[in-house]
Amino acid sequence: MNNVAENLISIEDVRVEYSSGRSLFASGRTVRAVDGVSLEIKRGETLGLVGESGCGKSTLGRAVLRLTEPTAGRVIHNGDDLSSLKPDAMRRRRRQLQMIFQDPYSSLNPRMTAGQIIGEPLRTFGISDQGKDRVQTLMETVGLDRRFIDRRPREFSGGQRQRIGIARALAAEPEFIVADEPISALDVSIQAQILNLMRRLQKENGLTYLFISHDLRAVRHIADRVAVMYLGRIVELADAKEIYRDPLMPYTRALISSIPVADPFIERKRERIILRGDVPSPLAPPSGCHFHTRCPFAIAECSRVDPKLVEIKPGHTVACIRISREHPHIEQNAANGLGDLMQ
Ligand code: ADP
Ligand code: MG
Repeated sequence: MNNVAENLISIEDVRVEYSSGRSLFASGRTVRAVDGVSLEIKRGETLGLVGESGCGKSTLGRAVLRLTEPTAGRVIHNGDDLSSLKPDAMRRRRRQLQMIFQDPYSSLNPRMTAGQIIGEPLRTFGISDQGKDRVQTLMETVGLDRRFIDRRPREFSGGQRQRIGIARALAAEPEFIVADEPISALDVSIQAQILNLMRRLQKENGLTYLFISHDLRAVRHIADRVAVMYLGRIVELADAKEIYRDPLMPYTRALISSIPVADPFIERKRERIILRGDVPSPLAPPSGCHFHTRCPFAIAECSRVDPKLVEIKPGHTVACIRISREHPHIEQNAANGLGDLMQ
């Protein structure tokens, strides 16, 4: 059931294709960066989106905000299909939908002051209170000294610059923020501070996050649910606790087993799955299950059959034909229940 009140964002079979490498000899090929993703993002939650570099996380995040136009599919925000909004309505809607970027070094205009950067959304959206006070309050909210309002990005540390990026995202009082690898460029010692800041801001402002990261450890500290992406597709989705305790899809198990065992926050079986080879090119993804070329458990069928996402346990869905055969899944149970009733 699609619960409109509970879901802030619904991603419905979104695809994003890039054409690449046109040459004299080839008419250009298509990268399916996002290959039919459906996801619900619940109001007030943090949905973690993980997967190796190049699997399409950033493209999906941008497509959700319509910073990249999806090739197909729909993104529903508060009941409205974003792609059907007229430019004016979309511009107003942007106030609700903000982004925090990975690299606080290149995402801030070096010629602007912190105050100008943070105040920009206030001007863009014609927010009446555009005063210095408002900007300085935002600075304090994210832990920046208000006296630094006229400093330029180069005068701040990496962590402080990310605080500027967060203050800018907050300025328009959005309800949804896509954070694309917001701590990956920061020193490990600073990462926890930024995660804590994001968590506090979420509580105080009722924010919903799509938190993108290739670092499963970071996601563990902030996400309520985790979606695992591989070559443009979601391959597993579950509550964060559940996915770290009982990852099912071999790809997720490999990612989690590569986290050092000393990490006290990860409880797991002492399993070690080593991934063979690199992620295949998205120009030519493997047939069937995209992961079968690297999967230690693949059977012949895996190269032929596209695995569908199946709910194995309540709220835990997996795209793997072997796993869905081993586990009596929810639809089957429901069908059996109905059968009993009808006898
Ligand atoms: P991730 O964020 O998971 O690292 P991306 O979304 O950046 O993945 O990229 C997914 C795939 O799409 C990659 O193969 C990447 O090379 C390709 N890609 C990303 N952006 C573009 C673009 N603007 N033009 C062509 N290909 C792109
Ligand atoms: Mg990325």
